[in-house]
This record gives sequence, structure tokens and C-alpha cells, in this order.
Amino acid sequence: MSTRADQFTAQVLRREELSDHLVRLTLGGEGLAGFPSTGVLDEWVGLVVPGQFQSRYYTVRSWADGELVVDVVVHAVGLVTEWAAGDCVGDTVVITEPKGSFTLPEDAAWVLLVGDLTALPAMARIAESTTDLPVRIWAEVPEPHEGYLPEGPEVTWLPSEYGASRLAEVVEGIDWPAGEGYFWMAGESAQMRAIRKHLMRVRKLPSHAYDVMGYWRATAGRQPRKVDPGPIYRAGKAAGKSDDEIWADYDAAQENADG
Ligand SMILES: Cc1cc2nc3c(=O)[nH]c(=O)nc-3n(C[C@H](O)[C@H](O)[C@H](O)COP(=O)(O)OP(=O)(O)OC[C@H]3O[C@@H](n4cnc5c(N)ncnc54)[C@H](O)[C@@H]3O)c2cc1C
Repeated sequence: MSTRADQFTAQVLRREELSDHLVRLTLGGEGLAGFPSTGVLDEWVGLVVPGQFQSRYYTVRSWADGELVVDVVVHAVGLVTEWAAGDCVGDTVVITEPKGSFTLPEDAAWVLLVGDLTALPAMARIAESTTDLPVRIWAEVPEPHEGYLPEGPEVTWLPSEYGASRLAEVVEGIDWPAGEGYFWMAGESAQMRAIRKHLMRVRKLPSHAYDVMGYWRATAGRQPRKVDPGPIYRAGKAAGKSDDEIWADYDAAQENADG
């Protein structure tokens, strides 16, 4: 569990609407001074918004000069959604200790990134920093986000009806590059479970060659309780599990929380 020592207060310095569904929040203030970024390219934090105790998880899009940027997808309803959709500038939030999962194998000759809008911040950060390998991206988005991803990687934009992901089907149709590489993917949990099976049973990839993460669950209304990936990640690492086994544990924990 995150302890108080792992938490940081921050103020919302700026709010910018990047698209109909994506809001950029820049956080700062003295409470963030000691923020211990992991430097892991898909690192995330828990975000607790005013008047709430539950956190939701957001990718650190960037951390520089004492400012932490998160890009928040706004949904029809939702605990963070309803706050981020309004004028939240000046509000004080709490963020938890960062964690990250992206682990590029030393012998990787290429990187494939697949995700929906919630994964776009991580895919952008990964692509910006992975300049020495070919990077190929599939991004499922409800409206165009050209210009959000850096120049360089080959990008396939997959227009989707908002909230209706077809990423499992997309991955099954991928023409894989030759040789060893790294496959990173995040999005709706049921799609991610299907993809994990495909990678294990059909592609027969070793677990260090991929990372597949369920970032959100399709449910009706606000999610009653979110499962913190942090403790599951730490326990899995301590038990010597691969990242992918840990993310499968996270999916199972979310299922149990729903039940
Ligand atoms: C490691 C990690 C990193 C993440 N990084 C980001 C990030 O950078 N940006 C980001 O926006 N999200 C990110 N997410 C996903 C985010 O935590 C969830 O989408 C979260 O549920 C949103 O909280 P909420 O309070 O707005 O909605 P909730 O109260 O959790 O849910 C409300 C309703 O919205 C629906 N819903 C939730 N997410 C989506 C979605 N993506 N599309 C359609 N419907 C949805 C739910 O099914 C529910 O019906 C990340 C998740 C993880 C685990």
C-alpha cells in the first residue's frame, strides 16, 4: 500500500483541452519538489482529486522543471472525469509514488506500441525516447490526434466509436517484423486479456518480449472501487513474476473487486 510518505500534494497550474476527449493538466507546487520519477517510459501515478479518497491512475506524460503533466481522457461519467471536465485550475490534488512497467529487452531490434486514447500519453513518451530503434504505433482514437505523437514512428490511426475498442482484432492482424523486438500495449481490460492469450498461444512470445496492460474496465457508471496496481506490481516483482504475469494478476484483482 502507498503510505503517506509516498504521496505528494500538487496544484493544478494549467488546464488545456487537447481534443473533445483529452484534457492536459499541468501540476506543480512545492509539494512536488521531491517527486521521485522512475524514468520508466510508461510510469504512472495515482491521482486523488478534491473531495475524493479513491485514486485513478494516470501516465506521467512528462516531468520537468518541477512540473508534472498528465493527459486525462474524459468519459461520460467518472470520478476524475467529472472533476477534470470542469475548471480545476488552482485545485490541490494528491498523487502517489510513480511506478513503471516498460522494460525493453537488450536485444530488441524494434518496438510495437498499440493502445487506445488512455494509452496515447504513454505511447508518446515511449516513442519520444526510443529514437534508436524502429517504432511502429497503432492508436485507436475517437477523433483525430495527429500532432500528439512525435515525428518518426510509423503511425496507424484507428478511428473508433468512443469506448468501443477493437484492438484485439487489430493485433491479430498485425504483420510482425522479423527478429526479436518488444510489444507494448494498453487499453480496455477485456481486449487486453484476449491479446495476452493471442501472444502466448499463437505468437508464442516469451514473457519478457511483451507488456500488455488493462488500463480501464468497461462498466456502467462510475467504477465503485479501483484496484491499485502498485502493490500488485511490487508483490509480483518480489515473487519473481514477469511483468505480463503481474498485469494478468491485476486483471484478476479488478474482476474480484467488481464481483
Ligand atoms: C497504469 C495506468 C495508466 C493509465 N494512464 C492513463 C492516462 O494517462 N490517461 C487516462 O485518461 N487514463 C489512464 N488510465 C486509465 C484511467 O485510470 C481509467 O480510465 C479510469 O477509470 C478513469 O477514471 P474516471 O474517474 O474518469 O472514471 P471511472 O469512475 O473510473 O469510470 C467511469 C466510467 O467511465 C468508463 N471508462 C473508464 N475509462 C474509460 C475509457 N478509457 N474509455 C471509455 N470509458 C471509460 C468506465 O467503464 C465507467 O463506466 C491509466 C490506467 C492505468 C492502470
